[in-house]
Amino acid sequence: MNTPDYAQVAKDLEHLIKGDGSLLDEDREKVARDTSLFYVKPEMVIYPKHAQDISKVIEYVATKKKEGFDIAVSMRSAGTCMTGGSLCHSIVLDTTRYMNHISDVTPLSATAEPGVYYRDFEKQTLGSGWLMPSYPASRELAAMGGLISNNSGGEKTLTYGKTENYVQSLDVVYANGARDMIHAFSGVDLELKLKENSEGGRIHREMFALISDNYDLIKNAKPTVSKNSSGYYLWNVYDKETGVFDLSKIIVGSQGTLACVTSGTFTGVKPKLHSRMLVMFVPSTIHLGEIIVKMLAHKPETIESYDDHTFKIAIKFFKDIALRMGGNMITLGLQFLPEFWMVVTGGVPKIILMAEFTGDTETDVDEQVSKAYDDMKQFNLPMKKTTSEHQAKKYWTFRRESFALLRTRLKGLRTAPTIDDIVVHPADLPEFLPKLETIFKKEIYKDLIYTIAGHMGDANFHIIPLIDIHQEGITDVLHQLMDEVYTLVFEYKGSMSGEHNDGLLRSAYIPKMFSPDIVTLFEKTKNIFDAQNILNPGKKVYANKEYAWGHIDTV
Ligand SMILES: Cc1cc2nc3c(=O)[nH]c(=O)nc-3n(C[C@H](O)[C@H](O)[C@H](O)COP(=O)(O)OP(=O)(O)OC[C@H]3O[C@@H](n4cnc5c(N)ncnc54)[C@H](O)[C@@H]3O)c2cc1C
Repeated sequence: MNTPDYAQVAKDLEHLIKGDGSLLDEDREKVARDTSLFYVKPEMVIYPKHAQDISKVIEYVATKKKEGFDIAVSMRSAGTCMTGGSLCHSIVLDTTRYMNHISDVTPLSATAEPGVYYRDFEKQTLGSGWLMPSYPASRELAAMGGLISNNSGGEKTLTYGKTENYVQSLDVVYANGARDMIHAFSGVDLELKLKENSEGGRIHREMFALISDNYDLIKNAKPTVSKNSSGYYLWNVYDKETGVFDLSKIIVGSQGTLACVTSGTFTGVKPKLHSRMLVMFVPSTIHLGEIIVKMLAHKPETIESYDDHTFKIAIKFFKDIALRMGGNMITLGLQFLPEFWMVVTGGVPKIILMAEFTGDTETDVDEQVSKAYDDMKQFNLPMKKTTSEHQAKKYWTFRRESFALLRTRLKGLRTAPTIDDIVVHPADLPEFLPKLETIFKKEIYKDLIYTIAGHMGDANFHIIPLIDIHQEGITDVLHQLMDEVYTLVFEYKGSMSGEHNDGLLRSAYIPKMFSPDIVTLFEKTKNIFDAQNILNPGKKVYANKEYAWGHIDTV
């Protein structure tokens, strides 16, 4: 295939779109990385003004591809993906510059363009008394396009599920540049949609046939863990019993490989008024599984955690944590005295487990947390129950800032998201965790430093190795670690990604997680939406592990 002349591409597009395009090195550098291990520098960056711009760009790219050029696009919002999801060798469309409008905020829904930061979206929704509870720990950094396309989850997912539950409709641009609005169709509306003489009509017809013809196979393939971001969610699209067919369910989590999202309408929940936290200081991961299973029986809204490495780094960079929390440095310092003391005396526990209980009255939450506290005494571990929302803030700040701190503050070592998002069934944890520990005890991993944080209530672990990327053979170690850990996860019918998704990092492992029949259906899905493979190629299907590992960021 021929490489396009991007100076000419820029000239052509200048006449077609209202937004900006850039061939400048500094602009291309800015989108060549996300928070993954990878580095892929695109030839061009486009900042679309609106949906029409995206439509024009895609139509142009589709034409060029037909002419035999190696050209592709990927969508990007805030670029915090940990899998290289938005990285692309050709054209990156960055929506944060212009496509950042929020509209139609009502008491339980709102519409947002993909470049809207979640933090801004939440301000608006809370102003109307609700929030989208699937926000990620990167809530201060990430934007709506990424939340949709990675099917993000977070601290409240244990109770409320992931982004897939809160998308009501999506405005999209398909791979030929055609626009459509997709949502749940049933009855006469579905019949009309299936007859529509348009790209949207064709895609609905072909996907309806694909899913209907393979209905049982698809339903049985749905991962049974509480959360999953891997693969295409064919099982969520059609329900024969209700007759509802909703293609937005497969766009969610598809990392921009099926269509470009130009706007979404979301719903959410009314947050509970009060909360209390039970914090447990757990000395090792040996009994962690039993502790989590017991804690779940008390139905906390969330069970989150971070580990000793994270804790020590957070204390070391206390100033950053304090800045995030706001308030007076001296008062905050006093609040953190017990933590400083733990570090000084070497008494830092392996895992800090945070279970938060919520309710609409103080009495209700006090009762819930006290009951759990009494029950958890059986583990004979240090515990603390908070008596106000404020007291929980420092634990939340540690938890939410942990990965960002590790990424930005470590000297000589860098985070290597690889086995960063595994998830199994909570009931399997007592058996699974010791086996995981056995893997880490192997000679090959003995020098590997790694942190553990995550959404423990969902049995979703963020295990992040901290590596010197220049150490000889380190990528082989990471490779082997991924192979061994994923094999174990699949033995327990788990998922390799609860929320961070597949991207460059994991797409090549999809055939290990799903059966060949399902992988074929994933490929057919891609072909129905994007037969020319111009939308974010190499992610989800037709992945090339060598390409990915040949693009490790060594800086
Ligand atoms: C400190 C930290 C903590 C994190 N914690 C969590 C967590 O708790 N839970 C979690 O789920 N994730 C977490 N993440 C990962 C990441 O922040 C989330 O997945 C986030 O939702 C990505 O949003 P983004 O705007 O940065 O997306 P980007 O990185 O810009 O893009 C993500 C993917 O979406 C696609 N995409 C973006 N916009 C569009 C569009 N308009 N149309 C189609 N496709 C599009 C991209 O091509 C890419 O594949 C964390 C990351 C960091 C750095």
